[in-house]
Amino acid sequence: MAIDYALEERLVIVQARIGAAAYKAGRDASSIRLVLASKTQPSEAIRAAWEAGARDFGENYVQEAIAKRAELADLTDIRWHLIGHLQTNKAKTAAGAFELIHSVDSVRLAEALARAQPSPRVHALIEVNLGAEASKTGVAPEKVAAILDAAREKIEVDGLMTIPPPTRSAEGARPYFARLRELRDRLATQSGYALSELSMGMTDDFEVAIEEGATMVRIGRAVFGERIA
Ligand SMILES: *Cc1c(COP(=O)(O)O)cnc(C)c1O
Repeated sequence: MAIDYALEERLVIVQARIGAAAYKAGRDASSIRLVLASKTQPSEAIRAAWEAGARDFGENYVQEAIAKRAELADLTDIRWHLIGHLQTNKAKTAAGAFELIHSVDSVRLAEALARAQPSPRVHALIEVNLGAEASKTGVAPEKVAAILDAAREKIEVDGLMTIPPPTRSAEGARPYFARLRELRDRLATQSGYALSELSMGMTDDFEVAIEEGATMVRIGRAVFGERIA
């Protein structure tokens, strides 16, 4: 397959920006994982990104992810993440298909994942809705402790994820990223659970997210280009 130099260049630029943001924050760049948000991208684009060195890909829809996984079955070291909302009735299909599910937002969903795959236990993040928008998925910050308590008996909860409400600038997202980190720190102290992963930051604000402690950034447009769909 021909090398997609434009995509490779965009990937290298994003990796350099991650490195610079980490340096500015006094962090080790290797502590930040780049997850490419590949929704609506054809499997050829994912393959091109893999050839350029990317390994982690985040999909929003279970069926779309599974179809692409089948097409890319020869890429044995690829890691699939589910970053979109997961309905409980899809839990069974999703449980064994992803390295990490970023969007657990109810005990019912955690139970369904545990039933579908008791061992090895599913790894997941709890999605927190910091903007209190009724239309958004994720749990309210004050409910996270209760969900964590119940969910950790069923699945491995590795940390927290958030999608901040739209802001006019990257700086506008900073308070949300800081709140997710503070919530994590508080919960980790209370529960004795590490909760080491913070999945936050996208194309428009990932550098700010890294300054605030992101361990996973989910980036689509900056690498794949603007979405057509
Ligand atoms: C699409 C998407 C992203 C990436 O968004 P970009 O602005 O393209 O970087 C990150 N997280 C989730 C949950 C998404 O759906």
